[in-house]
Formats: sequence, structure tokens, C-alpha cells
Amino acid sequence: MYNLEEIRQDFPILGRQVYNRPLVYLDNAATTQKPRCVVEAIAEEYYSVNANVHRGVHYLSQQATDLHEDARNRVKDFINARSAAEVVFTRGTTESLNLVAASFGEAFLKEGDEVILSVMEHHSNIVPWQLLRERKGIVIKVIPMDEVGNLCLDVYETLFSERTKLVCVAHVSNVLGTVNPVEEMARTAHKYGAFFLVDGAQSVPHFKVDVQQLNCDFLTFSGHKVYGPTGIGVLYGREELLERMPPYQGGGEMIARVTFEHTTYERLPYKFEAGTPDYVGSHALAVALDYVTRLGMDNIAAHERELTRYAMKRMREIDSMKLYGETVGKDAVVAFNVGDIHPLDLGTLLDRLGIAIRTGHHCAQPLMARCGVEGMARASFALYNTKEEVDVLVEGIKRVSRMF
Ligand code: PMP
Repeated sequence: MYNLEEIRQDFPILGRQVYNRPLVYLDNAATTQKPRCVVEAIAEEYYSVNANVHRGVHYLSQQATDLHEDARNRVKDFINARSAAEVVFTRGTTESLNLVAASFGEAFLKEGDEVILSVMEHHSNIVPWQLLRERKGIVIKVIPMDEVGNLCLDVYETLFSERTKLVCVAHVSNVLGTVNPVEEMARTAHKYGAFFLVDGAQSVPHFKVDVQQLNCDFLTFSGHKVYGPTGIGVLYGREELLERMPPYQGGGEMIARVTFEHTTYERLPYKFEAGTPDYVGSHALAVALDYVTRLGMDNIAAHERELTRYAMKRMREIDSMKLYGETVGKDAVVAFNVGDIHPLDLGTLLDRLGIAIRTGHHCAQPLMARCGVEGMARASFALYNTKEEVDVLVEGIKRVSRMF
């Protein structure tokens, strides 16, 4: 049913060599590789359908529009949104978060209002709120975490006040792999009259995410982390909230009628999609979502969890290994340091062995500060990784370790 050998055939890049060694690609939290069907969908659309969407009466424009809107429906089904009007295409998680900060911030937040984030957020879910703080004087509060990498939910409850308007939390930490209990956290936020945003950049690629089950008000994710192309992403927003939010950018596509005196806006979701959208990207993203759906999100999750468990076990064999994030049920990411080897040296030497990992602060400097380090090395897994690749990583780390 889950035939890894066959699955790997779908990803031509996995067969290539680097430095005359087989590529071991373990940087999937940064971006995933693309199956043939996604690359072919991009080529096929440019070769035989390409035309601007929503504008033309002609055949190609209508066909391109159908692909684009079918893709929106596909995303809607994938995350179980109530309607396609709740699916806004963006450039990625970062743009989705900036859109919410700018537009929700404009409509709902006044000076002194509070937004709750967590200490393990990606910079993309910190800086837009700081920009808003500079513009509007909002207050940012931060949920701390314990030593293993769980958010402190008891402290979380104490952060709420009558000024709390929004909570924004990563579903899965891109460093620790912690799967945050966002369903429960959203319940708490709603109890205090606040809205809840889930940064799904690291969850949507790895297991089934259902916005109605989570009962979140916003969900963000990036196409390129879920085997789709770069430059396309999604903002899910509850329809009644999106209705009350002003446009994020102005331009074509997002208007109903323009005069120099007054402009009215398109209905949802187009109000938030100024300019020519990445209609090829949206279609290719839908093909990627079809691909993972065919494999089965539950199968992918089971495979990756097993791989993560195996990796954690094998990593513990290594002398002076410090692992970050040891929560139960952690997902597809293993962050570590070995002795006093600088993570950049570790990453550079592993690269020479054909092993691609990430090193540095992982766009989560506040989390690095919490862990008392400047940086970490990180291996992150995808649906196509194997236990043999984990073994190559472990042997590689041991080898580098011996050199030091
Ligand atoms: N949030 C999280 C949890 C992430 O892992 C990432 C990407 N590493 C982002 C946000 C930003 O995603 P993008 O760069 O695709 O906009």
C-alpha cells in the first residue's frame, strides 16, 4: 500500500548524486521535492492552456479560470473549509500571515489590544505582529514552553485579558516538531472571546488538517512545503471574519467597480487577491494535494512518525548528542547539536557526504534564545524518506564527530 520504492520513483531529483554520492535530502521543513505530476502539470498548463484568468471571454482564459477555481475547491476539500470563498490564494504562509496582521489588524485591533503568540513561532508569525505593534500600539504576549518542548498551557490561560483579540500559534514547530494542541487552545481562546489562527506550514504537509474540527478562525500554509510549487500558498479564513476585513492590497481582480471618487470591492475571496494570481501555481498545488491524498494523509503521517521515532532513537546512540524537542508524538523534525561542534561545520561536512540538512536559527531566534543556543542542526522528513537515509545521517554525524 505504501510502497516507498515506487513513491521515490515519482521524485526524479531523489535519484541524483551530489559530490558523487547519492543525495540524502533531509531539509523538507524548508521545502519539499516535487513529484513528476506536479512538474508536468506546470509544463502542461504553460504549453497548452496558458491565459490570464477571470478576464477573458475566450476559450483559453475560461479553461485557465476553471483550473484555478477547481484548485480552490480542491484546497477547500483538503482542509474541509465550509466554502471556497474561505480560501484565499497568497504567495505562501508568510504572505498569509502578513495579510491577517494588516487586514484583521486594521479592522479589529486598537491601541492596547493584545495578540498572543508562542515562544516557538517562526519569524513569519512574529514580525508582522511587531510591524502592527509599531503602527497601532498593540501588545504582544508570549506563551512559554517547558524543557521538552511543550507549550505551558497553564500559563497560556493566564495571558488572556478583556483586551485579547487573537491567538496565533504554529500547529507544528519547524524546529522542535512539537504538535501543539491547537484544537484545545482554540477552545480556550474562544472562551475568552479571542480569535484563533493556526500556522499550518508544518502540519498541512504531514497529517490531515481539518479547519472545522480544529475550529480555528484562520489557517495558513505554503504550497512548496506540501510538494507543490513555490510562490503559492493559502489563507483560510472564516467567511464572516473575512467579510469584515478590508482588502490587503489594491489592484485588478479585487474590485467590483472603480471610479476616481469611489471603489467597491469584489466578493470573497477575490477581495484579497489583487493582481494576476499565480493560476499555474494554484493548479499545480491542487495536483500536489491530489497526489498526497492518493497516498493517504494517514499513511504519510504513520510513515513519517515511525521515521521520526527511529531517528530519535538512533540519534541518542551518538556521544554528546543534544536533542531539542522530545515531546510525545513529535512530527518529522529532529533538531540537534553535537558536543561543541558548530552546527554550520556539521552541516557543511554532512553536505560533503551527500546529506542535506539545515543549520542555523531556523527563522526562530526567540526559540534559540529560549534553548540557550545560537543555532542548531535540523533533519526534517518527508513522505519519501527512508530508514536507510536516517542510518546514513547517523553514520555521517558519527564520522564528523570523530573528526573533531
Ligand atoms: N511558519 C512555519 C512554522 C514555517 O516552518 C515556515 C517555513 N519554514 C513559515 C512559517 C514560512 O513559510 P514560507 O517561507 O513558505 O512563507
